[in-house]
Parts: sequence; structure tokens; C-alpha cells
Amino acid sequence: MIPYGRQSISEQDIAAVENVLRSDFLTQGPAVPHFEQRVAAYCGASHALAVNSATSALHMACLAAGLGPGDWLWTSPITFVASSNCGLYCGASVDFVDIDPHTLNLSPTALAEKLEKAASEGRLPKVVIPVHFSGEPCDMEAIAALSQQYGFTIIEDASHAIGGRYGQKSIGACEHSHMTVFSFHPVKIVTSGEGGMVLTNSDALAAKLALLRSHGITRDDGLMIEADPAPWHYEQLDLGFNYRMTDIQAALGNSQMDRLDDFIAARHRLADRYDALLRDTPVITPVRNPAHLSGAHLYVIQLGAEVRKDRRAVFEAMRKAGVGVNVHYIPVHTQPYYQKLGFMPGMFPTSEAYYARAITLPLYPGLTNEQQDKVVSTLKQAIS
Ligand SMILES: *Cc1c(COP(=O)(O)O)cnc(C)c1O
Repeated sequence: MIPYGRQSISEQDIAAVENVLRSDFLTQGPAVPHFEQRVAAYCGASHALAVNSATSALHMACLAAGLGPGDWLWTSPITFVASSNCGLYCGASVDFVDIDPHTLNLSPTALAEKLEKAASEGRLPKVVIPVHFSGEPCDMEAIAALSQQYGFTIIEDASHAIGGRYGQKSIGACEHSHMTVFSFHPVKIVTSGEGGMVLTNSDALAAKLALLRSHGITRDDGLMIEADPAPWHYEQLDLGFNYRMTDIQAALGNSQMDRLDDFIAARHRLADRYDALLRDTPVITPVRNPAHLSGAHLYVIQLGAEVRKDRRAVFEAMRKAGVGVNVHYIPVHTQPYYQKLGFMPGMFPTSEAYYARAITLPLYPGLTNEQQDKVVSTLKQAIS
């Protein structure tokens, strides 16, 4: 089976992990800050905090933003459930903003309309999470202008977008947001096995995140209440978690950063090739705005109106032929858990219409031209 995504592990990656295994520290050693400094420097952000997953990163970012019971978090329905579950972890309520049918990202127009209505009803969101779906950057300037007007915190879910750019700035620079989250799960662009990171330019948010990541405990004299702390003294100042990344994971992530630009170039080369191979077929290929640089994490096609086969039949025929297609994503508001919260199919029609026709084709740096040709010929056969 050709998978839809796959990690690329080099001998250098293996040596980096081995070095940690032979060193004094498997966790809380030097590899984590090295990885953090590397990603912060690459992105041009002041702070980067590594954690054990993007899910933990989103949870911490929401808490650092002050999200709690009585507050609202808004995000896109076309995302992984973690982008909205993080609001529920904080005891907040969650709502969604429908997507733009071309970019497949949260629509700034729909966001503006929903904010105007929410303002009149006194239920404005405290946090909005734009998701750079498939790596394609959201319209951050428009979202930032609305944040200025309505006062919400922006947390970019950039799980698909490390290595991408918004205009001239790297995704993660937080030029138009308060925090940005990356995922290092093996199907993502850079992997640490499991892992995530929060980037921010705010010293205050970084300090809160550092506490939340490790039980709310500090050993920093400057932060402690005790005026003359004994050498063994530490203080728990907040209710935090153990969301730490290990040095084993950080060494892998740091080593992978050496090839990030190559990974992005390989993904774009393959995406260009898909675009060319699919030009005269009745499928809609994904948008990549040349003003930005997509992370090109996913290559998502939509079956055009002329395709007579339904999506499930095409999907099953491709899987049967050994092509590991996938679907990103089932709209979050239609999940049973979210329906129990009062959401219903029909509430976000653009997301649902997209979902009904979407198929994710395999895309990862190690995908060969021959494998890609097989994906395309299998698709053509399946839709004919
Ligand atoms: C993968 C992913 C997450 C969760 O990442 P983990 O590191 O697996 O916790 C969150 N949001 C999006 C959009 C993702 O793709």
C-alpha cells in the first residue's frame, strides 16, 4: 500500500537519537532547548516551547490565553478534532466558522459576519484558531484585523504548515497572531515521533506556557513567592501538566530541521506534478497561493460535478488497488460527541459540501514518480 503520508528518517536522524540514548539525559537535558532554539530561529519567533504533542500545545495555548468556563473558542470545521477539543478541555464552549470553498480555510468573510452577530448577542469568542489546512496559509491579515476590532486571541494551528511562509515571513513568526502551534507526528512535515511546539513573541505568554508544561512548578528565584528560597526549594504556582517532550524526541526533531527546506521543496515538486497530471481530469486540485508558501502537507482533491461515481466508490477502488488514500477531515461538528453538544449536520454547508467530494492523495518526500503515476492512473480508472 502506498501510504498517504510517511516520515523520512536519515542515518543522521538515527545517529542523533543514538547520541541522546548514550548521554546523561533522556529528558530535561540539552536537546529540548536546542530544538526549541532551532525552530524559533528558523521561524523568527522570540520563544518556542516544545511539548509532547500539538494537542498538548493547543491545550496550553488556550489556557495561556485565559480561556475558561463561560468563554468561546471558534475554529474551522475542516480540521482534526484537537483544534476544537482544546477549548472543551478548558471548560469553554466551542463554535465553528465555515470555510472558504477555494482555500478550504476558515473564511474571513464568514468570521466577520459571525463576529458582528456575536457582538450584538454578547458572546464574542476569547480565542479563534485558524488552521492552515493542508499547509495553505489562512488570510492572517484579515483575521488579525478582526482580532484588533473584537479583542480575541489568535492561536494558529500550523500542524500542517512548518516550513511554509505567509508573505515573506515564516509560518510560526506570529506576525499576525499571539501563538502558533506545530505538530511533529510522523505524518506531518517534520517529526519527533510524537511532539508539538508553541511559538510566541510574548514574554508573558511564554512564561505561562513554561509553567503549564511542567506541573505549574518553577525553580526560578525570580518567580518564587519565598523571599529566601533554600537550594532544594521549588514552588507550584499554577495547575500545570506533564506535557514535556523527551530529549530523544527533540534530538530527532532537531536533526529533521536540517532537511525542512528540502522536505518542502520535495512536497511542492510532487504537488506540481500532481497538478500537471490531473489537469485534464474532472477533479478539482488544491489551491496554492503564490503570494505565500504552503507547507504542502496534504494534497486534497475534490471530485468535480461531472464525476458520476460517488466518493466512497472511488475511495474503495483506490484502496483496493493499493493506493492509501485518506479523507481530511470529517467536519468536526458532525462527530457524535459534537452532536451531543448540540451541533447538527447542515450547520456549516460549505465544509460539508467540500467533505462529500474530498479525497487525500499520497504526498510525502519519499514518494517516487512511479508511485505517483500509479496513484494518478488508479484515480483516473476509479472515476471513469
Ligand atoms: C495532527 C494535528 C493535530 C494534533 O497533532 P498531535 O501532535 O498529533 O497532537 C492538531 N491539529 C491539526 C490540524 C493536525 O493535523
